[in-house]
Amino acid sequence: MKSAVADTDGVSQKVIDSLREQIGEPKVLTGDEVLDERRHDYWVLSHLQSWREESLPRPGVVVRPESVSDVQAVVRTAAATNTPLVPFGLGSGVCGGIRPDPSVVLVDLSAMNQIREIDETNLLASFDAGVQGLVAEDAVAERGLTIGHWPQSIAISTVGGWVSTRAAGQFSTAYGSIEDIVYSVEVVLPNGERVQLGKAPRAAAGPDLRHLLLGAEGTMGIVTGVTLSLRRQPERRAYSAYYTPSLSAGFEAQREIVQSDWFPPVMRQYDAMEVVRNFNDLTQGTANERGLLLMVHEGPSTRVAAELEAIDTIASGFGLEPAPDEVGPHWMEHRNHVPSWSQLFERNLVADTIEVSAPWSRIEAVYEAATASLRELDAIVIASAHSSHVYRTGINLYFTFVARHEDSADMEATYLDCWHRVMEATARCGGGVAHHHGAGRLRKSYLVHDLGVTGVSLLRSIKDALDPQGIMNPGNLIPDE
Ligand SMILES: Cc1cc2nc3c(=O)[nH]c(=O)nc-3n(C[C@H](O)[C@H](O)[C@H](O)COP(=O)(O)OP(=O)(O)OC[C@H]3O[C@@H](n4cnc5c(N)ncnc54)[C@H](O)[C@@H]3O)c2cc1C
Repeated sequence: MKSAVADTDGVSQKVIDSLREQIGEPKVLTGDEVLDERRHDYWVLSHLQSWREESLPRPGVVVRPESVSDVQAVVRTAAATNTPLVPFGLGSGVCGGIRPDPSVVLVDLSAMNQIREIDETNLLASFDAGVQGLVAEDAVAERGLTIGHWPQSIAISTVGGWVSTRAAGQFSTAYGSIEDIVYSVEVVLPNGERVQLGKAPRAAAGPDLRHLLLGAEGTMGIVTGVTLSLRRQPERRAYSAYYTPSLSAGFEAQREIVQSDWFPPVMRQYDAMEVVRNFNDLTQGTANERGLLLMVHEGPSTRVAAELEAIDTIASGFGLEPAPDEVGPHWMEHRNHVPSWSQLFERNLVADTIEVSAPWSRIEAVYEAATASLRELDAIVIASAHSSHVYRTGINLYFTFVARHEDSADMEATYLDCWHRVMEATARCGGGVAHHHGAGRLRKSYLVHDLGVTGVSLLRSIKDALDPQGIMNPGNLIPDE
C-alpha cells in the first residue's frame, strides 16, 4: 500500500500557485491562524499534546472549495503532484482522523454549505457535504420534517463528516444510524472524477458502493454532497424511566422490548456509577446503587400510548421500578453538554469515552471484563458505562474512563493503556471494537479484531484500487502493514 509524501519540507510553492490559479486565491490559505486551527480534530490525545505545549505539526496549506468543481481541481492537482490531502469537516472527530503535517493540503469543506434541495414528496433532502448538522436539521424542521439523526455533536459536525465516520445519533434505536438514513452520496474520487452513488429507494445493482464512503474517514475520496432520507416530525413525544436492579435485568428488559418490536428512539441504560454522575439531584436517596433505564418514545399518539403500556408491563416483569418523571426531560435538556478536555487536564485528569458493541449474549461479559481491566490501573478514578443504541441482535456500550496523574507527562501512556484494555477486553469477550466513532489513528490497529487478518488485507486492497498513489488522508484508518 502506497502512502504519498510529496515533500517533507512542505507543500511546494508550485502546488500552492497552481491551486490559486485553479480555484481562486481567496480559497487557498496559508496564514498562521488558519493553519494552527486545523492541526487536529477533537481527539483527546491531540488536545493533551497541544495543552502540554508540544508543537503539533500543521498542514502546509488549507483550501476552502466552494463547489464540486473546486474539489475536483484540488484533487487533480494533488494527484498530479503526489500531494497528500486531508478532508476536514468541522473537526469534531474523536479518533485522530485529522493529524496533518506540512506536506498536506487540508481540504476544509465548511465553505461547501448549501442546502441543495428539500423534496417533501419523496422525503429527501440534499446538502453540500460541509453543511453543519444543526443547520441541516433546522432547514427540514421548518417544513415539519426531521432527519432523525441527532449525534451529540450535531452543532459541531457536518453531514459529510457523518457519512465519513459512520456516525450514529442519539435517536438511532428507532430511526437508524447514518447508513440507514443516507440515500445517496456524491464523491470526488482520488483521480478527480465525480460519482453519484445511490439513485433509488433500494437497489440490487451489485454491491452497495455507497458503503465505500460510509466510514472511510477521508481515505477513499472526498464526499461533496449527501442526500438524506427524512421523516415527518412525530405527533407525540413521551418519556419513561425505570430503576434497574442490575445491569443484567436492564439488558434483559431491553432485549424483550426490542425483540417484541417496540422501538423507542432513545433507550439508555446507565450503570449505578453513571446514575450518580448524571442524575444525582433527581434520584438522590432512591437510586441505592441501582442502574437506570430511560426512554424517549415518539410517533403517532396511539402508538406511543400502546408502547408506553407494553413497555411498562415488560419492565415490571423484569423487576424494574419506576424512576422520577423528570429523568427523561432532564436528559433531553442537558444531553449535549460536554466538559472541555483542558478543564480536566488542569485538574490532573485525563478522560475519554469508548464505544463498542456486542450481541446480547456477550454484552455483560464485555462490561465486566473492560471495567475490571480499567480498574486494575492505580491511576483510574472512574470506569463506568451506559448503553445508548439498541438492536434486535444486541446493544452498544459506551465506557467512560477518568485517570489521575500528578505529572501530566504520564497521562499519555495511561490514556493509551486504557484504550488498549477496553479494546482487548471487548474483542476477547466477543464484542465489536468500534460502534460509532470510527477508527482514525487511535483505533486502526484494533480493527483486525473486527475484520480479521484477511478482512484487513481486503480493506487495504480496496484502498489501493481506489487510491493507488495513497494521497487520501495517509496514515488514517487503514491498519499499518
Ligand atoms: C462532543 C462530541 C460529541 C459527539 N457525539 C457523537 C455522537 O453522538 N455520535 C457520533 O457518531 N459521533 C459523535 N461524535 C464524533 C463526531 O462528531 C463525528 O464523528 C462526526 O461525524 C464528525 O463530523 P465532522 O464534520 O466534524 O468531521 P471531521 O472531524 O472534520 O472529520 C472526521 C473524519 O472524516 C473525514 N472527513 C470529514 N469530512 C469529509 C468529507 N466531506 N469527505 C471525506 N472525508 C471527510 C476526515 O478526514 C476525518 O478523517 C462526537 C464528537 C464530539 C466532540
